[in-house]
This record gives sequence, C-alpha cells and structure tokens, in this order.
Amino acid sequence: MRVQSKNSVGGEWVDAVEGGVQEVVNPATGETIGEVPRGTEADVDRAVEAAKRAFADWRETTPQERAEALLKLADALEEHADELRETETANVGKPQGVVHDEIPVAADNLRFFAGAARVLEGKAAGEYMRGYTSMIRREPLGVVGQIAPWNYPLMMAVWKIGPALAAGNTIVLKPSEQTPLTALLLAEYAADILPPGVLNVITGDGEPVGAGIVRHRDVRMVSLTGDVATGKEVARAAADSLKRVHLELGGKAPVVVFDDADPAAVAEAVKVAGYWNSGQDCTAASRIVAGPKVYDRLLAELVPAVESLKVGDPAEGEEIDMGPVISQSQQERVFGFLERATANGKARVLTGGDRNGDRGFFVRPTVVVDVDQTDEIVKKEVFGPVVTVQRFASDDEAIAWANDVDYGLSASVWTRDVGRALNAARALEFGTVWINDHIPLVSEMPHGGYKQSGYGKDLSMYSVEEYTQVKHVMAKLD
Ligand code: NAD
Repeated sequence: MRVQSKNSVGGEWVDAVEGGVQEVVNPATGETIGEVPRGTEADVDRAVEAAKRAFADWRETTPQERAEALLKLADALEEHADELRETETANVGKPQGVVHDEIPVAADNLRFFAGAARVLEGKAAGEYMRGYTSMIRREPLGVVGQIAPWNYPLMMAVWKIGPALAAGNTIVLKPSEQTPLTALLLAEYAADILPPGVLNVITGDGEPVGAGIVRHRDVRMVSLTGDVATGKEVARAAADSLKRVHLELGGKAPVVVFDDADPAAVAEAVKVAGYWNSGQDCTAASRIVAGPKVYDRLLAELVPAVESLKVGDPAEGEEIDMGPVISQSQQERVFGFLERATANGKARVLTGGDRNGDRGFFVRPTVVVDVDQTDEIVKKEVFGPVVTVQRFASDDEAIAWANDVDYGLSASVWTRDVGRALNAARALEFGTVWINDHIPLVSEMPHGGYKQSGYGKDLSMYSVEEYTQVKHVMAKLD
C-alpha cells in the first residue's frame, strides 16, 4: 500500500515545521501502516498563509470554473478507487463492501456540489426604497478550517471540501490523527486540478492542530465533524474571534417500531444500519423502541440476523461484513458501556458483548435488552456495534423515549399506517427522519442535527449556503 507521508501546503509536499511524526495503525491487526507529520500551531500558520494567498485568485473564479474542478476531482476519485479502497480498509478497518459503496457516493457528492456552484443565488434585485436598487450577493467567507473524524475519513473530507470550494473558499483541512491517509491521497489527486493553496491538508492532533485552526484569526469559519464534547470546545474557542461554526456531532438514533410494522424488515434494516462500519456511524440505528405486540417477534428476527454477520479482518476477503472498531481505547470504551449496563444484573446481552479473536480491536455485534430509558447505554452514544431494544406501552411513550436524549441527528419510524408515520415524523426531534428504512442519504438532501447533534447542514444546497456570507448592495439611482 502506498502511503503519502507528507502534508500538502501551498502546492508543496512538506514535513511538519517542527519535524514531528505520528504513526498510523491498522485497527484489524494493531500494526503500524505508515507515518504522517505530527503538526503544531506553526503548521496551522503556514497552511492558513497559503490558503489566504490562494483566496485572492480563487475568489475570482467563475462558478463554471469551480464546477469543472469539482467534476475533475470526482473523476479522480473514481480513477483511484482501488487505491482509496485499499487505504481506507487498512486505516479504518472497513469491510471491502462498505468502502466499495463509499467511493461512488463520494464522487456523486462532488458532482452535486459542482452543479450547485452554478445555481447558487442571491435574491433578485429590486427597489425597496424609491430611487434605490438593492441586490443580494452571496460571497465566499475566505479561509475555512475543516476538521474531520475517523469514521468516514474520505467521505467527511468530501462533504466538507465540496461545498466550501463550490462557494469559492480556500481550505485548511485536518483529518483525524487516527485516519489521515485518504485525505492526503485526496490532496494528491487535487494537486493536478486545483491551484496551489486552495486545498491544504495538515495532519496532527486535535490540540494543537485542530484547536490551532479554531484559534487562528484569519480562519473565517470552522467546520467540525466529531464528538459533542469536541463541538462544545470548538464553539467556545471560536467565540473569541466570533468565527462561524458548523458542527456535525454525535447521534443516538432511535428506531421506533410500531406494532403493525414488519419485524423481518426491521431486523434486516437494523442488521445493516446498526452495525455498518462497526456501528461507528453518527446515524447508527443504535436503539430500538418497539411496540408491546411486535417486541418478541422482532427479537426473534433480530438476534439471528445479527449473528449472521461475518466479523473479521477485512483483508480476509469480501465476505467480511464487519471489521474492528477504530482503536483499543474505542474497544475499551464499548466494553465499558456493556459492563456498566449489565453490572446490576438487570440488562441482558442477547448476543455478542465480547471480542472476536485476540488480534486487532474487535467487538462482536451486540444486542442488549431489559434496559431502562434512564440507563447510560440508552442515553449516550456508544459508537460501536451495540443495539439496545426497549418495549414501549403506547405511541406517546414511544415518541417521548425517542426524543429523550441530548442528541437529535436522525431517527426512523416503522409502520404500515401513513398517518401514524407522518405524525411520528413531525413529532420526532431529529434532523432526519426515515420512514420504513434507516440510513440512506442523497447528495440533494441536507444532513445535520437538532439539539446537541450540532448545527449547520452537510450535503444539499443548504451546505453550500453555509459556506457563503450575504451582502446587501444598495445603489442610489440618481
Ligand atoms: P473527535 O471529536 O474525537 O475528533 C474529531 C476531530 O476533531 C479530529 O480530527 C480531532 O483531532 C479534532 N479535535 C479534537 N479535539 C479538538 C479541539 N479541541 N479543537 C479542534 N479539533 C479537535 O471525534 P471522533 O472520535 O474522531 O469521531 C467520532 C464522533 O464524530 C462521533 O461522536 C460521531 O457521532 C461523530 N460524527 C458525526 C457525524 C455527523 O455527520 N453528525 C459524522 C461522522 C461522525
């Protein structure tokens, strides 16, 4: 596997200013697969300077020119799909099938943003005071800082750079210190397409590199995808320079299953959406609240479906459905949730709950029952292959439990009754509600949270607008 071990700044491939390096690990084996620069605040300064210089020309490009660049980048992703798949599999422990599905989606996202660049609009001009014409301009912000998580390194990079570039900004992107490899490859492919300094990728830890981006006076906006706690730190730090903040944070998605739902269909969907990417997905179907009549039938379908998932090192072949979690500390975190949930002898693990072999950081797909709405495992994001199942007594209780978490990213509702489905979709306090499915996303529709899942939207025209500022120009006519 080829590893890009330098940062991309101002069109140059550079080491960290202070010379530090950090190891990158394959979570399926625990082995080191490469080294990248361990940046410091000096790397942030250098990258922001490069992005500032590049902004002078990039802001003058036409939407057509920016669209063409994004279309070429989408083509480049497809051309290099094998390399991206191999790298993402080794660095994140993703099954080959999961990564296989991600590349066309990421390419489609970029093609959507290419189109969006050309239809971004301000309101039509008009006369709102006699003798004056007003117009609205949508302008780029300048240098934007983008900080990505480890669960979808390539896709999150694409969701960030696509709208920012479409709107005419220049970028300093920091991938997660755990999964920096595909973002560096993306920078390589972009080097032949974008002018130097338009996309800078620097690696390093949250503090000092991520936080350094947030602190930097010349960064006009910070977009973070990450944990709720990190989002709060970023929002607090950004307040010092009043920079705009875009936060895509954690989730704890309920799967509300009414008694008239098809339990086999729910089980099949949760088998995918609860354990996709080892459950390390902000929209993971992590807690089922099921009606009193369907509860037992659902468990009878769900447990064998979950047990049919083939867990192992993705390098073993395409038949692996689920790989490891990202790190030993993540594995310990997941086991910690399970230990605390079962400590008082009440909650029961119906399947899973242990590791899988003695190599790498595996957690077997797990189903937990007999949990209360107040339990930590129901209220907090586990971010691992763990699904809890609760039995509700009434529709009102179902909705109340579904909403009774700090998060508000996504939810699903399962019923054959249209009125019941639409009523639940209205009452659920989540940025996305699926009816009779869980997890699909499309480039045209927004993805983003309510409540402590953050603010700002990814994907869709809304995300492009987030990377712009609105200017009113008012001209006196005589
Ligand atoms: P994390 O918050 O630990 O790290 C995310 C990024 O923030 C990393 O690049 C990290 O280096 C950086 N960072 C850490 N501290 C920082 C600081 N003080 N200032 C600036 N940057 C800092 O999150 P993670 O563990 O990498 O990712 C998992 C989390 O991401 C989960 O909570 C998951 O739900 C969330 N997530 C959300 C979405 C979404 O669209 N809402 C998508 C994917 C992941």
